[in-house]
Amino acid sequence: MLALPISGVQATWRPATGRDDIALADGAQGLEGAVDYVGSAVRLDPPVEARDLPVGDVDLVVVWDRRERRGDTMVAEGRCGRCLEPVDVRFSLAAYAAHHRPRASRRAEPIGDGWFRLRAGEAEFRVPTSADVLEAAASVDPRSELLDRCVRGTVPPATARSIEAAMARLAPTLRAAVAGTCPECGAAFELEVDARELCMAELRQDAITVYDDVNLIATAYGWSQDDILDLPSARRRRYAGTIAGHLPETRARELAHA
Ligand SMILES: [Zn+2]
Repeated sequence: MLALPISGVQATWRPATGRDDIALADGAQGLEGAVDYVGSAVRLDPPVEARDLPVGDVDLVVVWDRRERRGDTMVAEGRCGRCLEPVDVRFSLAAYAAHHRPRASRRAEPIGDGWFRLRAGEAEFRVPTSADVLEAAASVDPRSELLDRCVRGTVPPATARSIEAAMARLAPTLRAAVAGTCPECGAAFELEVDARELCMAELRQDAITVYDDVNLIATAYGWSQDDILDLPSARRRRYAGTIAGHLPETRARELAHA
């Protein structure tokens, strides 16, 4: 179980089946795909839709899932801005998430029901949900659309900027820069890391093995696709591993790539 730091909602993982793996492997990219994934991967208590979680909480579920499956160390890759050689930064997902946790804002105070009031002035706002961000992104002017949805009344530009600064502190996402030093030329560099999307890419890589597993198990045991997809993913992977391990290597490879 994971307590989501922005919304306070508790997330409990459900056992995945092959159908969840297919939905993940073939799912949408970006925030929309992450929201769909969170909706199927965890049970939320109190029961809310994954779309109603702030983006930072969706990010944390994805990052935590990847951490449980593949460990805490993440590698982000990019290029040195000075010598253009490839560089990477290795970091702890737990430390990264802790560093980007939500914090109280000196600019705003909570007034109940998820709403806040700026201490300077009277403007009231709430933290955007993933649905707000997705729907605003599809509009002609995403920034004003997001403010329209999350701020009561109309506010002058300076107040809008204060609200956005408070939102970034109260509900940060896990997209941030990580710093490193280029081993080739010694220059300091920063990589813009979208931890959620890096982790989603790895979770998709793991999920896509469902196709090979179905192929192996159906070929070896003659079970139907539906029966194989209904198996808990962990059990399906064990059957597939057992079959691959017990077949002569060339035949297992043939089956895996058939
Ligand atoms: Zn360099």
